[in-house]
Amino acid sequence: MPAIKDSFELTKRFAAGESSAEATLQAALRVIDAREPKVGAFLHLDRDGALAQARDLDARRKQGQKLGPLAAVPIAVKDNIHVAGHATTCASRMLDGFKAPYDATVTARLKAAGAIILGKTNLDEFAMGSSCENSALKQTRNPFDLERVPGGSSGGSAAAVAARMALMALGSDTGGSIREPASFCGVVGLKPSYGRVSRYGLVAFASSLDQIGPFTLSVRDAALSLSVMAGADPLDATSSSEPVPDYLSALRADLRGMRVGVVRAYFDECPNQDVADRCRQAVERMKALGAEIVEIELPRAKDGLAVYYVVASAEASSNLSRFDGVRYGLREKTPSAIQNYFATRGRGFGPEVKRRIMLGTYALSAGAYEEFYGRASRVRTLMVNDFKAAFARCDVIASPTAPFTAFRAGEKSDPLSMYLCDIYTIPANLAGLCALSMPVGADARGLPVGLQLQCAPYAETTLFGAASALESDLNLNLAPTL
Ligand code: GLN
Repeated sequence: MPAIKDSFELTKRFAAGESSAEATLQAALRVIDAREPKVGAFLHLDRDGALAQARDLDARRKQGQKLGPLAAVPIAVKDNIHVAGHATTCASRMLDGFKAPYDATVTARLKAAGAIILGKTNLDEFAMGSSCENSALKQTRNPFDLERVPGGSSGGSAAAVAARMALMALGSDTGGSIREPASFCGVVGLKPSYGRVSRYGLVAFASSLDQIGPFTLSVRDAALSLSVMAGADPLDATSSSEPVPDYLSALRADLRGMRVGVVRAYFDECPNQDVADRCRQAVERMKALGAEIVEIELPRAKDGLAVYYVVASAEASSNLSRFDGVRYGLREKTPSAIQNYFATRGRGFGPEVKRRIMLGTYALSAGAYEEFYGRASRVRTLMVNDFKAAFARCDVIASPTAPFTAFRAGEKSDPLSMYLCDIYTIPANLAGLCALSMPVGADARGLPVGLQLQCAPYAETTLFGAASALESDLNLNLAPTL
Protein backbone atom coordinates (compact mmCIF):
# COMPACT_ATOMS: atom_id res chain seq x y z
CA MET A 1 0.00 0.00 0.00
CA PRO A 2 2.46 2.64 -1.13
CA ALA A 3 -0.05 5.46 -0.59
CA ILE A 4 -0.34 4.89 3.15
CA LYS A 5 2.46 6.05 5.40
CA ASP A 6 1.97 3.70 8.32
CA SER A 7 -0.57 1.76 10.35
CA PHE A 8 -1.35 4.77 12.48
CA GLU A 9 -2.53 6.68 9.43
CA LEU A 10 -4.44 3.67 8.13
CA THR A 11 -6.39 3.22 11.37
CA LYS A 12 -7.30 6.92 11.36
CA ARG A 13 -8.58 6.69 7.78
CA PHE A 14 -10.49 3.54 8.58
CA ALA A 15 -12.04 5.08 11.68
CA ALA A 16 -13.05 8.15 9.67
CA GLY A 17 -14.81 5.91 7.16
CA GLU A 18 -12.45 6.84 4.33
CA SER A 19 -11.66 3.24 3.48
CA SER A 20 -13.01 -0.21 4.18
CA ALA A 21 -10.99 -3.04 5.68
CA GLU A 22 -11.70 -5.12 2.60
CA ALA A 23 -10.42 -2.46 0.18
CA THR A 24 -7.32 -1.99 2.33
CA LEU A 25 -6.68 -5.70 2.33
CA GLN A 26 -7.22 -5.98 -1.43
CA ALA A 27 -4.63 -3.25 -1.90
CA ALA A 28 -2.18 -5.18 0.29
CA LEU A 29 -2.86 -8.37 -1.67
CA ARG A 30 -2.13 -6.57 -4.95
CA VAL A 31 1.23 -5.44 -3.58
CA ILE A 32 1.88 -9.03 -2.47
CA ASP A 33 0.97 -10.36 -5.92
CA ALA A 34 3.44 -8.00 -7.54
CA ARG A 35 6.31 -8.26 -5.08
CA GLU A 36 6.19 -11.53 -3.21
CA PRO A 37 7.44 -13.59 -6.21
CA LYS A 38 10.63 -11.50 -6.10
CA VAL A 39 11.05 -11.13 -2.33
CA GLY A 40 9.84 -14.47 -0.95
CA ALA A 41 8.98 -13.16 2.51
CA PHE A 42 6.06 -15.48 3.27
CA LEU A 43 5.99 -19.18 4.03
CA HIS A 44 2.22 -19.18 4.10
CA LEU A 45 -0.40 -16.68 2.95
CA ASP A 46 -3.94 -16.90 4.27
CA ARG A 47 -5.90 -14.92 1.68
CA ASP A 48 -9.28 -16.42 2.58
CA GLY A 49 -8.82 -16.04 6.31
CA ALA A 50 -7.64 -12.45 5.88
CA LEU A 51 -10.59 -11.65 3.66
CA ALA A 52 -12.99 -13.12 6.22
CA GLN A 53 -11.40 -11.01 8.97
CA ALA A 54 -11.67 -7.87 6.82
CA ARG A 55 -15.33 -8.46 5.98
CA ASP A 56 -16.10 -9.12 9.61
CA LEU A 57 -14.49 -5.79 10.58
CA ASP A 58 -16.45 -3.92 7.93
CA ALA A 59 -19.68 -5.54 9.09
CA ARG A 60 -19.00 -4.69 12.72
CA ARG A 61 -18.16 -1.11 11.85
CA LYS A 62 -21.45 -0.85 9.96
CA GLN A 63 -23.26 -1.96 13.08
CA GLY A 64 -21.56 0.84 14.97
CA GLN A 65 -19.40 -1.43 17.10
CA LYS A 66 -16.27 0.04 18.60
CA LEU A 67 -13.24 -1.55 16.93
CA GLY A 68 -9.74 -1.92 18.32
CA PRO A 69 -6.67 0.30 17.86
CA LEU A 70 -5.27 -1.81 15.01
CA ALA A 71 -8.53 -2.17 13.07
CA ALA A 72 -7.87 -3.08 9.41
CA VAL A 73 -4.05 -3.21 9.71
CA PRO A 74 -2.66 -6.07 7.59
CA ILE A 75 -0.01 -7.81 9.64
CA ALA A 76 2.43 -10.68 9.08
CA VAL A 77 3.64 -13.08 11.76
CA LYS A 78 7.04 -14.77 12.00
CA ASP A 79 6.60 -18.48 11.61
CA ASN A 80 7.79 -19.37 15.09
CA ILE A 81 4.72 -17.67 16.65
CA HIS A 82 1.44 -19.57 16.72
CA VAL A 83 -1.64 -18.57 14.77
CA ALA A 84 -4.36 -21.11 15.60
CA GLY A 85 -5.17 -23.52 12.80
CA HIS A 86 -2.10 -22.67 10.74
CA ALA A 87 1.20 -24.42 10.41
CA THR A 88 4.06 -23.23 12.59
CA THR A 89 7.17 -24.45 10.79
CA CYS A 90 10.02 -22.47 12.39
CA ALA A 91 11.38 -22.84 8.82
CA SER A 92 12.43 -26.36 9.78
CA ARG A 93 11.71 -29.82 8.40
CA MET A 94 11.31 -30.87 12.02
CA LEU A 95 7.81 -29.41 12.21
CA ASP A 96 6.51 -30.91 8.94
CA GLY A 97 2.76 -31.28 9.22
CA PHE A 98 2.41 -29.50 12.57
CA LYS A 99 -0.52 -27.12 13.00
CA ALA A 100 -0.78 -24.69 15.90
CA PRO A 101 -3.67 -25.72 18.13
CA TYR A 102 -3.98 -22.28 19.72
CA ASP A 103 -3.14 -18.60 19.22
CA ALA A 104 -0.03 -17.11 20.80
CA THR A 105 -1.04 -14.38 23.26
CA VAL A 106 0.38 -11.74 20.91
CA THR A 107 -1.68 -13.18 18.04
CA ALA A 108 -4.82 -13.15 20.16
CA ARG A 109 -4.18 -9.56 21.28
CA LEU A 110 -3.55 -8.37 17.71
CA LYS A 111 -6.71 -10.06 16.48
CA ALA A 112 -8.71 -8.54 19.32
CA ALA A 113 -7.29 -5.14 18.37
CA GLY A 114 -8.64 -5.59 14.84
CA ALA A 115 -5.43 -6.48 12.98
CA ILE A 116 -5.79 -8.72 9.94
CA ILE A 117 -3.36 -11.63 9.91
CA LEU A 118 -2.01 -12.06 6.37
CA GLY A 119 0.19 -15.06 6.92
CA LYS A 120 3.44 -16.41 8.28
CA THR A 121 6.93 -15.24 7.37
CA ASN A 122 10.26 -16.90 6.74
CA LEU A 123 13.07 -17.09 9.29
CA ASP A 124 16.35 -18.80 9.94
CA GLU A 125 15.56 -22.29 11.17
CA PHE A 126 14.37 -22.04 14.80
CA ALA A 127 15.46 -18.37 14.72
CA MET A 128 19.15 -19.29 14.59
CA GLY A 129 20.95 -17.07 12.13
CA SER A 130 21.35 -13.53 10.84
CA SER A 131 20.46 -13.71 7.14
CA CYS A 132 17.46 -16.05 6.71
CA GLU A 133 19.79 -18.34 4.77
CA ASN A 134 19.41 -21.02 7.45
CA SER A 135 15.74 -21.47 6.52
CA ALA A 136 15.18 -25.05 5.40
CA LEU A 137 12.18 -23.94 3.35
CA LYS A 138 12.86 -20.81 1.35
CA GLN A 139 15.22 -18.01 0.48
CA THR A 140 14.04 -14.49 1.28
CA ARG A 141 15.60 -11.54 -0.54
CA ASN A 142 16.24 -7.99 0.52
CA PRO A 143 13.68 -5.69 -1.17
CA PHE A 144 16.38 -3.02 -1.63
CA ASP A 145 18.63 -5.41 -3.57
CA LEU A 146 17.37 -8.86 -4.46
CA GLU A 147 20.92 -10.26 -4.56
CA ARG A 148 21.26 -9.50 -0.87
CA VAL A 149 19.89 -11.00 2.33
CA PRO A 150 17.14 -9.37 4.38
CA GLY A 151 18.98 -10.15 7.63
CA GLY A 152 17.73 -12.58 10.23
CA SER A 153 16.47 -14.42 11.86
CA SER A 154 13.17 -12.53 11.33
CA GLY A 155 14.11 -11.72 7.73
CA GLY A 156 10.72 -12.54 6.20
CA SER A 157 8.92 -10.12 8.53
CA ALA A 158 11.44 -7.33 7.88
CA ALA A 159 11.24 -7.84 4.11
CA ALA A 160 7.42 -7.97 4.13
CA VAL A 161 7.18 -4.59 5.85
CA ALA A 162 10.01 -3.02 3.82
CA ALA A 163 8.23 -4.07 0.61
CA ARG A 164 4.91 -2.69 1.96
CA MET A 165 3.32 -6.13 1.65
CA ALA A 166 2.33 -5.84 5.31
CA LEU A 167 2.10 -2.66 7.34
CA MET A 168 3.37 -4.37 10.44
CA ALA A 169 4.97 -7.71 11.25
CA LEU A 170 5.97 -9.67 14.30
CA GLY A 171 9.43 -11.01 14.94
CA SER A 172 11.33 -12.51 17.83
CA ASP A 173 14.67 -11.25 19.09
CA THR A 174 17.06 -13.44 21.09
CA GLY A 175 20.30 -11.76 20.10
CA GLY A 176 19.29 -9.25 17.45
CA SER A 177 16.80 -11.06 15.23
CA ILE A 178 14.43 -8.09 15.04
CA ARG A 179 16.92 -5.23 15.04
CA GLU A 180 19.47 -6.56 12.53
CA PRO A 181 16.93 -7.37 9.78
CA ALA A 182 15.14 -4.07 10.50
CA SER A 183 18.46 -2.34 9.93
CA PHE A 184 19.13 -4.26 6.67
CA CYS A 185 15.62 -3.56 5.35
CA GLY A 186 15.20 0.08 6.36
CA VAL A 187 12.32 -0.32 8.81
CA VAL A 188 11.80 0.18 12.54
CA GLY A 189 12.36 -2.95 14.66
CA LEU A 190 11.71 -3.06 18.39
CA LYS A 191 12.95 -5.54 20.98
CA PRO A 192 10.95 -4.82 24.12
CA SER A 193 12.41 -5.30 27.60
CA TYR A 194 12.67 -8.87 28.87
CA GLY A 195 9.23 -9.87 30.17
CA ARG A 196 7.37 -6.92 28.63
CA VAL A 197 5.54 -9.04 26.04
CA SER A 198 4.09 -12.48 26.66
CA ARG A 199 5.91 -15.34 24.99
CA TYR A 200 3.05 -17.81 25.25
CA GLY A 201 2.85 -19.40 21.80
CA LEU A 202 6.37 -18.45 20.73
CA VAL A 203 8.54 -21.49 20.04
CA ALA A 204 11.28 -21.04 22.63
CA PHE A 205 14.89 -20.64 21.53
CA ALA A 206 16.75 -19.25 24.57
CA SER A 207 14.31 -18.52 27.34
CA SER A 208 16.36 -15.99 29.29
CA LEU A 209 16.78 -13.88 26.14
CA ASP A 210 13.74 -14.27 23.85
CA GLN A 211 11.32 -11.40 23.28
CA ILE A 212 8.62 -10.82 20.67
CA GLY A 213 8.46 -7.42 19.03
CA PRO A 214 7.18 -5.56 15.96
CA PHE A 215 8.57 -4.40 12.63
CA THR A 216 6.91 -1.17 11.57
CA LEU A 217 7.16 1.71 9.12
CA SER A 218 7.36 4.34 11.85
CA VAL A 219 8.26 4.79 15.49
CA ARG A 220 4.67 5.68 16.38
CA ASP A 221 3.58 2.35 14.88
CA ALA A 222 6.07 0.56 17.12
CA ALA A 223 4.56 2.40 20.10
CA LEU A 224 1.04 1.58 18.92
CA SER A 225 1.72 -2.12 18.47
CA LEU A 226 3.55 -2.42 21.79
CA SER A 227 0.61 -0.84 23.57
CA VAL A 228 -1.54 -3.66 22.18
CA MET A 229 0.90 -6.50 22.90
CA ALA A 230 2.53 -5.54 26.21
CA GLY A 231 1.37 -6.50 29.67
CA ALA A 232 1.03 -9.40 32.05
CA ASP A 233 -0.28 -12.69 30.74
CA PRO A 234 -1.55 -15.43 33.04
CA LEU A 235 -0.43 -17.94 30.39
CA ASP A 236 3.20 -16.81 30.61
CA ALA A 237 4.50 -16.69 34.16
CA THR A 238 7.66 -14.96 32.95
CA SER A 239 5.71 -11.94 31.70
CA SER A 240 5.89 -8.82 33.85
CA SER A 241 2.97 -7.32 35.72
CA GLU A 242 4.57 -3.87 35.52
CA PRO A 243 1.79 -1.49 34.32
CA VAL A 244 1.80 -0.64 30.62
CA PRO A 245 2.23 3.11 30.11
CA ASP A 246 0.61 5.05 27.28
CA TYR A 247 3.39 4.62 24.74
CA LEU A 248 1.85 6.89 22.12
CA SER A 249 1.97 9.84 24.47
CA ALA A 250 5.72 9.25 24.88
CA LEU A 251 6.42 10.49 21.34
CA ARG A 252 8.38 13.73 21.24
CA ALA A 253 9.51 16.44 18.88
CA ASP A 254 12.69 17.53 20.64
CA LEU A 255 15.28 15.97 22.93
CA ARG A 256 15.79 18.69 25.50
CA GLY A 257 16.91 17.21 28.80
CA MET A 258 17.80 13.85 27.28
CA ARG A 259 21.28 12.42 27.74
CA VAL A 260 22.47 10.25 24.84
CA GLY A 261 25.35 7.90 25.64
CA VAL A 262 27.83 6.85 22.99
CA VAL A 263 30.63 4.29 23.17
CA ARG A 264 33.29 5.82 20.95
CA ALA A 265 34.69 2.46 19.79
CA TYR A 266 31.33 1.42 18.31
CA PHE A 267 31.71 4.21 15.79
CA ASP A 268 35.51 4.35 15.38
CA GLU A 269 35.94 0.59 14.97
CA CYS A 270 32.86 -0.04 12.88
CA PRO A 271 34.11 -1.90 9.77
CA ASN A 272 31.80 -0.03 7.39
CA GLN A 273 32.51 3.67 6.96
CA ASP A 274 29.05 4.54 5.64
CA VAL A 275 27.41 2.89 8.64
CA ALA A 276 29.68 4.77 11.05
CA ASP A 277 29.09 8.08 9.23
CA ARG A 278 25.30 7.82 9.03
CA CYS A 279 25.12 6.87 12.71
CA ARG A 280 27.44 9.71 13.73
CA GLN A 281 25.30 12.15 11.76
CA ALA A 282 22.19 10.83 13.50
CA VAL A 283 23.80 11.44 16.89
CA GLU A 284 24.67 14.97 15.72
CA ARG A 285 21.00 15.50 14.89
CA MET A 286 20.05 14.32 18.37
CA LYS A 287 22.41 16.94 19.75
CA ALA A 288 20.83 19.58 17.53
CA LEU A 289 17.44 18.54 18.91
CA GLY A 290 18.63 19.42 22.39
CA ALA A 291 20.16 16.20 23.68
CA GLU A 292 23.34 16.17 25.67
CA ILE A 293 25.88 13.69 24.25
CA VAL A 294 27.86 11.78 26.89
CA GLU A 295 30.72 9.42 26.28
CA ILE A 296 30.24 6.17 28.15
CA GLU A 297 32.12 2.90 28.55
CA LEU A 298 30.78 -0.63 28.31
CA PRO A 299 34.00 -2.51 28.99
CA ARG A 300 32.56 -6.05 28.87
CA ALA A 301 30.37 -5.55 25.82
CA LYS A 302 33.16 -7.03 23.68
CA ASP A 303 32.61 -10.35 25.47
CA GLY A 304 28.91 -10.35 24.61
CA LEU A 305 29.24 -12.60 21.59
CA ALA A 306 31.17 -15.26 23.51
CA VAL A 307 28.75 -15.15 26.45
CA TYR A 308 25.74 -15.29 24.14
CA TYR A 309 26.88 -18.34 22.19
CA VAL A 310 27.33 -20.27 25.42
CA VAL A 311 24.12 -19.13 27.14
CA ALA A 312 21.84 -19.15 24.08
CA SER A 313 23.12 -22.52 22.87
CA ALA A 314 22.81 -24.06 26.34
CA GLU A 315 19.20 -22.92 26.61
CA ALA A 316 18.47 -23.99 23.03
CA SER A 317 19.84 -27.47 23.61
CA SER A 318 17.34 -27.84 26.42
CA ASN A 319 14.37 -26.15 24.69
CA LEU A 320 14.79 -28.12 21.48
CA SER A 321 14.77 -31.48 23.27
CA ARG A 322 10.98 -31.42 22.97
CA PHE A 323 11.28 -32.17 19.25
CA ASP A 324 11.51 -35.89 19.67
CA GLY A 325 9.53 -37.32 16.77
CA VAL A 326 6.67 -38.21 19.09
CA ARG A 327 4.94 -35.02 20.11
CA TYR A 328 5.21 -32.67 17.15
CA GLY A 329 5.72 -32.70 13.41
CA LEU A 330 8.20 -34.98 11.73
CA ARG A 331 8.28 -38.63 12.72
CA GLU A 332 10.69 -41.10 11.21
CA LYS A 333 9.31 -44.60 11.51
CA THR A 334 11.95 -47.05 12.67
CA PRO A 335 11.70 -50.35 14.55
CA SER A 336 12.51 -48.93 17.99
CA ALA A 337 11.60 -45.80 19.89
CA ILE A 338 15.18 -44.77 20.50
CA GLN A 339 16.10 -45.19 16.82
CA ASN A 340 13.03 -43.17 15.96
CA TYR A 341 14.36 -40.35 18.13
CA PHE A 342 17.80 -40.36 16.53
CA ALA A 343 16.44 -40.65 13.00
CA THR A 344 13.90 -37.87 13.46
CA ARG A 345 16.32 -35.40 15.01
CA GLY A 346 19.05 -36.40 12.58
CA ARG A 347 16.87 -35.69 9.59
CA GLY A 348 14.68 -32.93 10.97
CA PHE A 349 17.25 -30.39 12.18
CA GLY A 350 19.52 -28.45 9.81
CA PRO A 351 23.27 -27.99 10.33
CA GLU A 352 23.18 -24.71 12.28
CA VAL A 353 20.56 -26.02 14.71
CA LYS A 354 22.61 -29.16 15.27
CA ARG A 355 25.71 -27.06 15.85
CA ARG A 356 23.91 -25.06 18.56
CA ILE A 357 22.51 -28.17 20.23
CA MET A 358 25.95 -29.78 20.38
CA LEU A 359 27.63 -26.59 21.55
CA GLY A 360 24.99 -26.06 24.23
CA THR A 361 25.00 -29.64 25.45
CA TYR A 362 28.77 -29.52 25.70
CA ALA A 363 28.72 -26.20 27.58
CA LEU A 364 26.35 -27.74 30.14
CA SER A 365 28.12 -31.11 30.44
CA ALA A 366 29.50 -32.06 33.83
CA GLY A 367 33.20 -31.60 32.99
CA ALA A 368 32.79 -28.36 31.03
CA TYR A 369 29.94 -26.62 32.87
CA GLU A 370 32.01 -24.40 35.15
CA GLU A 371 34.45 -23.38 32.45
CA PHE A 372 31.72 -22.43 29.98
CA TYR A 373 28.23 -21.93 31.41
CA GLY A 374 29.40 -20.84 34.86
CA ARG A 375 31.89 -18.37 33.47
CA ALA A 376 29.51 -17.00 30.86
CA SER A 377 26.89 -16.40 33.56
CA ARG A 378 29.35 -14.43 35.66
CA VAL A 379 30.47 -12.28 32.72
CA ARG A 380 26.80 -11.70 31.95
CA THR A 381 26.33 -10.27 35.44
CA LEU A 382 29.30 -7.96 34.90
CA MET A 383 27.72 -6.77 31.64
CA VAL A 384 24.46 -6.02 33.45
CA ASN A 385 26.44 -3.96 35.97
CA ASP A 386 28.17 -2.06 33.15
CA PHE A 387 24.76 -1.07 31.77
CA LYS A 388 23.54 -0.02 35.22
CA ALA A 389 26.55 2.27 35.54
CA ALA A 390 26.03 3.61 32.02
CA PHE A 391 22.33 4.34 32.57
CA ALA A 392 23.22 6.36 35.66
CA ARG A 393 24.96 8.75 33.26
CA CYS A 394 22.67 8.66 30.22
CA ASP A 395 19.05 7.91 29.29
CA VAL A 396 19.62 6.22 25.96
CA ILE A 397 22.62 4.62 24.26
CA ALA A 398 23.10 5.17 20.52
CA SER A 399 25.21 2.93 18.26
CA PRO A 400 25.08 1.28 14.86
CA THR A 401 22.63 -1.64 14.85
CA ALA A 402 24.87 -3.86 12.75
CA PRO A 403 28.49 -3.43 11.70
CA PHE A 404 27.53 -3.31 7.99
CA THR A 405 24.62 -3.04 5.59
CA ALA A 406 22.90 -6.02 3.93
CA PHE A 407 25.42 -8.45 2.45
CA ARG A 408 25.15 -10.70 -0.58
CA ALA A 409 23.46 -14.07 -0.28
CA GLY A 410 26.17 -16.71 0.14
CA GLU A 411 28.78 -14.17 1.19
CA LYS A 412 29.17 -15.33 4.78
CA SER A 413 29.81 -19.02 4.67
CA ASP A 414 31.53 -19.62 8.02
CA PRO A 415 29.47 -19.50 11.21
CA LEU A 416 31.69 -17.00 13.03
CA SER A 417 31.40 -14.28 10.39
CA MET A 418 27.62 -14.73 10.56
CA TYR A 419 27.67 -14.52 14.37
CA LEU A 420 29.53 -11.20 14.17
CA CYS A 421 26.44 -9.54 12.63
CA ASP A 422 24.97 -9.35 16.13
CA ILE A 423 27.93 -7.88 17.94
CA TYR A 424 26.09 -4.64 18.80
CA THR A 425 22.66 -6.14 19.44
CA ILE A 426 23.42 -9.10 21.73
CA PRO A 427 24.27 -7.15 24.93
CA ALA A 428 20.69 -5.78 25.14
CA ASN A 429 19.30 -9.33 25.29
CA LEU A 430 21.85 -10.44 27.88
CA ALA A 431 20.87 -7.46 30.08
CA GLY A 432 17.12 -7.50 29.40
CA LEU A 433 17.11 -3.95 27.98
CA CYS A 434 14.64 -2.50 25.52
CA ALA A 435 16.20 -1.52 22.20
CA LEU A 436 15.18 -0.58 18.71
CA SER A 437 16.68 -0.10 15.30
CA MET A 438 15.56 2.76 13.10
CA PRO A 439 16.66 3.78 9.62
CA VAL A 440 18.96 6.81 9.55
CA GLY A 441 20.03 6.86 5.91
CA ALA A 442 21.62 4.71 3.24
CA ASP A 443 25.11 3.67 2.18
CA ALA A 444 26.70 4.47 -1.19
CA ARG A 445 24.75 1.60 -2.80
CA GLY A 446 21.44 2.85 -1.45
CA LEU A 447 21.20 0.12 1.19
CA PRO A 448 19.59 1.18 4.48
CA VAL A 449 21.66 1.94 7.58
CA GLY A 450 20.12 1.36 11.01
CA LEU A 451 20.82 3.18 14.26
CA GLN A 452 20.31 1.22 17.46
CA LEU A 453 18.91 2.99 20.52
CA GLN A 454 18.96 1.13 23.83
CA CYS A 455 17.32 2.04 27.13
CA ALA A 456 17.18 0.56 30.61
CA PRO A 457 14.67 -2.24 31.24
CA TYR A 458 11.09 -0.91 31.09
CA ALA A 459 12.16 2.51 29.80
CA GLU A 460 10.31 2.04 26.50
CA THR A 461 8.75 5.49 26.86
CA THR A 462 12.23 7.08 26.81
CA LEU A 463 13.14 4.89 23.84
CA PHE A 464 10.10 5.99 21.84
CA GLY A 465 10.69 9.62 22.83
CA ALA A 466 14.26 9.58 21.54
CA ALA A 467 13.46 7.63 18.38
CA SER A 468 10.39 9.65 17.39
CA ALA A 469 12.16 13.00 17.71
CA LEU A 470 15.06 11.78 15.59
CA GLU A 471 12.72 10.21 13.05
CA SER A 472 10.72 13.36 12.45
CA ASP A 473 13.89 15.42 12.24
CA LEU A 474 15.47 13.09 9.64
CA ASN A 475 12.22 12.84 7.69
CA LEU A 476 13.55 10.00 5.50
CA ASN A 477 11.61 8.24 2.87
CA LEU A 478 13.47 4.99 2.37
CA ALA A 479 11.44 2.75 0.12
CA PRO A 480 12.67 0.03 -2.22
CA THR A 481 12.04 0.32 -5.96
CA LEU A 482 10.78 -3.17 -6.70
N1 GLN B 1 21.66 -14.16 15.01
C1 GLN B 1 21.61 -14.59 16.37
C2 GLN B 1 21.67 -16.10 16.42
O1 GLN B 1 21.89 -16.67 15.43
C3 GLN B 1 20.37 -14.06 17.03
C4 GLN B 1 19.17 -14.83 16.69
C5 GLN B 1 17.91 -14.30 17.31
O2 GLN B 1 17.86 -13.20 17.86
N2 GLN B 1 16.88 -15.12 17.28
O3 GLN B 1 21.51 -16.69 17.41
